[in-house]
Amino acid sequence: MHTFNGVEFRSKSARKAHVRGMIDVLGECVIGPEHECFGAFEELLSMHPRAEWKRGPGVGSYFIEQNPLGKSADRTGMVRVDGVRDTFSWVDCCNERAKTSNHAFSQAMRQAVFGQAVAFKTASYQEGARLECVLCSTSVLAYGSYHVDHATRFKEIAAAFVASVGGVVPQRFASCPVTKQISFRDEDRAFADAWAAFHASKCELQVLCGPCNLAKH
Ligand SMILES: [Zn+2]
Repeated sequence: MHTFNGVEFRSKSARKAHVRGMIDVLGECVIGPEHECFGAFEELLSMHPRAEWKRGPGVGSYFIEQNPLGKSADRTGMVRVDGVRDTFSWVDCCNERAKTSNHAFSQAMRQAVFGQAVAFKTASYQEGARLECVLCSTSVLAYGSYHVDHATRFKEIAAAFVASVGGVVPQRFASCPVTKQISFRDEDRAFADAWAAFHASKCELQVLCGPCNLAKH
């Protein structure tokens, strides 16, 4: 999902074109806290790969200035509250956020339903006191050699869920300080629970032996 200033875009390049248009329309100017685009620039800077470092103690105002190299490369920058003047590449901002956010989102989606796969494997084992591969029927391997597989691809289920909620998904995530495991934040518990229920109803889990699982993926 590529969002900016409350708008969703089909692609990263569509969002980039939108930001470029905004900067072109504004032209050379100073954007202080009272400016209607101040919030948009705060969001833009937050998408920068080194946002925290760039922001420092906070931004007093943003500016757009003409790049000596030409109109197409207008420069964006800011004056921080401590008086430091710096520039940042709005192109870097447009490129980075989608990458990071999509990756984190996908990690959180998997983490939220990880327990379902574990529970499925445990229950399958308890049912027959052994595990059996649904493809080759091998049932003599060690417990750890069996994998839980999605008959319907995980990505498809996740995409269907995201579509069912109109594409409105969490943009920020929690990260375990020890394992670095990314998960949904407590604030997004309702989203995570709805996703877990949706996944449980659609996932069609099955047990595969390691070799069959490797051959499939
Ligand atoms: Zn097998």
